Amino acid sequence: MFDSLSEKLQSAFKTIRGHGKLSEQNIKEALKEVRMALLEADVNFRVVKDFTERVRKRAIGREVMKSLTPGQQLIKVVNEELTELMGKESSGLSFATTPPTTLLLVGLQGSGKTTTAGKLASMLRKENHKPLMVAADVYRPAAITQLQVLGQQLQIDVYADGAEKDPRKICQKALQQANHEGFDVVLIDTAGRLHIDQELMQELRDLKALTSPQEVLFVADAMTGQDAVTVADQFNKALDVSGVVLTKLDGDARGGAALSIKAVTNRPIKFVGVGEKLDQLERFHPERMASRILG
Ligand code: GDP
Repeated sequence: MFDSLSEKLQSAFKTIRGHGKLSEQNIKEALKEVRMALLEADVNFRVVKDFTERVRKRAIGREVMKSLTPGQQLIKVVNEELTELMGKESSGLSFATTPPTTLLLVGLQGSGKTTTAGKLASMLRKENHKPLMVAADVYRPAAITQLQVLGQQLQIDVYADGAEKDPRKICQKALQQANHEGFDVVLIDTAGRLHIDQELMQELRDLKALTSPQEVLFVADAMTGQDAVTVADQFNKALDVSGVVLTKLDGDARGGAALSIKAVTNRPIKFVGVGEKLDQLERFHPERMASRILG
């Protein structure tokens, strides 16, 4: 994961290693390489600019601590700023005071929404919740079947109604079932499209108004880099999402989405998908990710 970025950052810090003290000149040289490394990792241009400026300001004029070399000192600042960039602290899910808690999963087709619904439901069950997954994609019968198969695999209940063409009615009935049968978390797998269109957004807005979810989670494919960030921004503007699930991080060699999405949307990454298997979902910890990137 993010191997090339890690390598390039290491090389940037090497340039400063021989110096006795952090000076404006040697910080400038190292940051030039940091900037290149981030741009090559497909991090949003503005994000890179702000990031390197913050690091520069903090690094300049710093007394080098006796125990740290200038290289280590700069790494420390970069580490802290990378953590800040990705959200500082780990953000959990909000739960309803009166169950059920409703989670609306939104995103483009193929981003990993359905898989994430299954992974998240499974994670929540391990934490003693009783989840119900809802198949609200009325446009692709295969999507309903996919969720049902996942439900069978995981032994988690799925609300589906292949004959109902109105996703609002599906959600209403699913919430009724949750109330009657004591499901305390309802995960709604909404329809995705290949591209954003107004009809999709309106449908999602309607579902949000109807279900008053505690979380609207935007599911993004990390491998699509800046496209994921742009789409996240658009979904957020239309729907005011509460957080992001970044999938396929295991296949993401660059890291651009992970490093830009919070800064661009101001919404935290809450979970990351790190493989196709149903237990391969992790809570996102910005600090751990920053340390991992810095090697
Ligand atoms: P949806 O159309 O948004 O519901 O997407 P799916 O859930 O059908 O996922 C699309 C593809 O991405 C499937 O082949 C999943 O197995 C795969 N996928 C989802 N999440 C991950 C992940 O975290 N890592 C990997 N490697 N593959 C994933």
